[in-house]
Amino acid sequence: MSLIDTRIPDPKKFIKGTTGDWEIVLGLEVHAQVTSQSKLFSGASTAFGGEQNNHVSFIDAAMPGMLPVINEECVRQAVRTGLGLKAQINNTSVFDRKNYFYPDLPQGYQISQFKQPIVGEGKIILDMKDGEQVEIGVERLHLEQDAGKSMHDQHPSMSFVDLNRSGVALMEIVSKPDLRSSEEVRTYLTKLRAILRYLGTCDGNMEQGSMRADINVSVRKPGGGFGIRCEIKNVNSMRFAVAAIEYEARRQIAILEDGGVIDQETRLFDASKGETRSMRSKEEAHDYRYFPDPDLLPLEFDQAFVDSLAHDLPELPDEKRERFINALGLTPYDAGVLVAEKETADFFEEVAEGRDAKLAANWVINDLLGALNKAGKTIEESLVSAEQLGGIVDLIKADTISGKIAKDVFEIVYNEGGDPAEIVESRGMKQVTDLGAIETAVDEVMAANPDKIEQVRAKPNMLGWFVGQVMKATGGKANPQAVNKLLKEKIGLE
Ligand code: ADP
Ligand code: MG
Repeated sequence: MSLIDTRIPDPKKFIKGTTGDWEIVLGLEVHAQVTSQSKLFSGASTAFGGEQNNHVSFIDAAMPGMLPVINEECVRQAVRTGLGLKAQINNTSVFDRKNYFYPDLPQGYQISQFKQPIVGEGKIILDMKDGEQVEIGVERLHLEQDAGKSMHDQHPSMSFVDLNRSGVALMEIVSKPDLRSSEEVRTYLTKLRAILRYLGTCDGNMEQGSMRADINVSVRKPGGGFGIRCEIKNVNSMRFAVAAIEYEARRQIAILEDGGVIDQETRLFDASKGETRSMRSKEEAHDYRYFPDPDLLPLEFDQAFVDSLAHDLPELPDEKRERFINALGLTPYDAGVLVAEKETADFFEEVAEGRDAKLAANWVINDLLGALNKAGKTIEESLVSAEQLGGIVDLIKADTISGKIAKDVFEIVYNEGGDPAEIVESRGMKQVTDLGAIETAVDEVMAANPDKIEQVRAKPNMLGWFVGQVMKATGGKANPQAVNKLLKEKIGLE
């Protein structure tokens, strides 16, 4: 790969060393398990958590003479992912054997793609917290087999091998070295995961290992050439990715500032110590002796196949975000929060259907997501349905309840369930719009505070104090606009 620098050094992302500023350069290789019923080259099940060695065909166990047959669904999923990454789709690609010995690799080689991957260059757009947009290049996406799993903790003197994962289809998605901070990597992984989940091509479950990242880290003086990189293998959480990068960058800076050189090596992140440690150096690197797998013809499909998959692609996070901003009038920030997970976007759209979208967005983001976050629940586990939240929005819009009372209604629905309109009715929470009743409250508050009236006349922005008193006197149920208007009239601020 020829390395091209696409980024302008950004001082906000520099790390301070004893000799001055340093810039981190990062590139990711993400392994994503393809969502499919069966494996890449066999009909065995891909289900997670089965009895050991129960999802293993003769092909996955590498019995002599067995022939791999490509699973068309996996090809479809890889092409769909490529389209989602706005990438070049290669109508001809080649499967190669990557040769190495490992007890959990019975074939003695992994079938992968080397020189001619199924998907070429693409991109992922990152929306950073401060509003900055960053485009990260995707170098390639290729299909390959997963290996089995060795288990060394089952018996005092023996190791076991579970081949359930052997032959499961993985997509390896390789980025260009375009990332410049741990925060960008976290955002990249989050965005990639969202795209895969919107597409339904990978469930993105990092704890179960269906998505894991190899993180390449190097450092350099800002504006300098690319430094020597280390690769941190198999990082399986966003939090670990950030911690590993922060540690590794500082380790490299300390070596360089000490006059040393970086060994190009593969490292592992030890989550319990928060450190990376060496696994193998480049000198020990494998020579995989890649060659085209003679059991498989080149993979070929026509443009019509690609076009029909493109036609049926769902709306993806970027397009959804644009629509939320342009058609629904949401702020870029709110739109970004709502599209981050497909389930959240779907929930919001159900609430917003036929309603004030901005108000709906506020309630989903501030109240619902806030409450769920506190309770450690996902939106799928929400105790308030879209219909219930929509009901609350309707009551606010109809001026039946104020925004303040709506918070109380939300609490009740969240904790006890029920229909918001019925709750408001049966608990007497309706907003008082009866001007007579409001006027009485206004008169009482004014009569009790003659000194304050003088002050407000001198300083009209003190009116808020009076509004507060009247709201208090009416148990928060008076219509605030009506209170405001009446007070201004009576005090003579109009
Ligand atoms: P390999 O297969 O040997 O790991 P690749 O050329 O495929 O090598 O690169 C793997 C990853 O390393 C890519 O994501 C790439 O962006 C990243 N990378 C390459 N050079 C650097 C560098 N100097 N610093 C950080 N990342 C790098
Ligand atoms: Mg690598």
